[in-house]
Amino acid sequence: MVRAIGIHDSVAALFPPTVLAERLTDIDATTRVVGTDEVDDVDALVTFEYDEAFLDAGLDWIHSVQAGIDRFPLDKLEARGISLTNSTGTHGDSVGETVAGMMLSFARRLHQYRSQQERTKWAWAEWDAPFTLSGCSLCVVGLGTLGRGIAARADALGMHVTGVKRTPTPVDHVETVHPSSELHEAISDAKFVALAVPLTDETEGLIGAEELAAMRDDAVLVNVARGAVVDQPALVDALQTDSLAGAALDVFETEPLPEPSPLWEMDEVIVTPHAAAATRDYPDRMAALVRENVRRIDAGERLANHVV
Ligand code: NDP
Repeated sequence: MVRAIGIHDSVAALFPPTVLAERLTDIDATTRVVGTDEVDDVDALVTFEYDEAFLDAGLDWIHSVQAGIDRFPLDKLEARGISLTNSTGTHGDSVGETVAGMMLSFARRLHQYRSQQERTKWAWAEWDAPFTLSGCSLCVVGLGTLGRGIAARADALGMHVTGVKRTPTPVDHVETVHPSSELHEAISDAKFVALAVPLTDETEGLIGAEELAAMRDDAVLVNVARGAVVDQPALVDALQTDSLAGAALDVFETEPLPEPSPLWEMDEVIVTPHAAAATRDYPDRMAALVRENVRRIDAGERLANHVV
């Protein structure tokens, strides 16, 4: 049974932690916002960050408010008997809409016009720069919650959608699903390549110089996965040498993206601050996951979104 849930103050990176505490007043356990030094006083923790202190705090369960759990030491948590759950399953619509917006921006030149507006400049893009997404090709690498959310919206916009996943089972809205071994083939003739894989030993540096070279010169890379899935210096090089037409990047090797990065200044790069999943409904979605798992713990059932 869960008696006391701490909402770690690091959740403030996404929304005020007190809002989540308010949303959870209907459950039997007490909920309150805690700092790292107060984690000993609770038996479950909802958190954005990971801290080594969590390991010896007597916690039974940690819930990550992100889908990505790459910063959590799974082996150590498992060894301590601490269950970890994540927030996959909740970001398909928000990230799907963000990626649709990014692709629409490139097609309809919206980022260019917004930049011009800042300089009070009234001018069309080159006549042959704008295009429509209808009939355009998109390859989605990773077809879980995020990838499916992206594919559904791209399909609705009339795009030809292909994808890559470890187990190449059919996925709605995706014409062809490739196994990971066919990554190069899958990305080589797509106008847009959208990355939606978790960061793991297998996916670190998945898109490097070779993969960027395999892509079309007029292709646009969209990364809403994790920065380290892409070899960032190789990406900068591909953009600077025009072997890639553009990129829409929500995630970076180092976040916030350091000021000297050339990516900030590139006209054909859209930088967003790891905000692809942001929505005012975020606390409600987290509350629903936590509430369901409190119920499951009481019922002796397997946790939803169980990682270890
Ligand atoms: P899911 O677990 O639902 O889906 C992951 C997908 O990636 C699956 O289709 C899986 O394949 C595929 N995959 C895993 N490894 C490989 C590989 N080596 N090659 C090809 N495909 C692979 O995760 P989510 O969709 O919820 O999230 C994915 C990641 O996106 C998160 O881990 C997180 O890092 C990031 N994220 C970023 C957000 C943002 O704000 N920018 C928001 C939310 C998530 P299979 O189906 O065959 O197992």
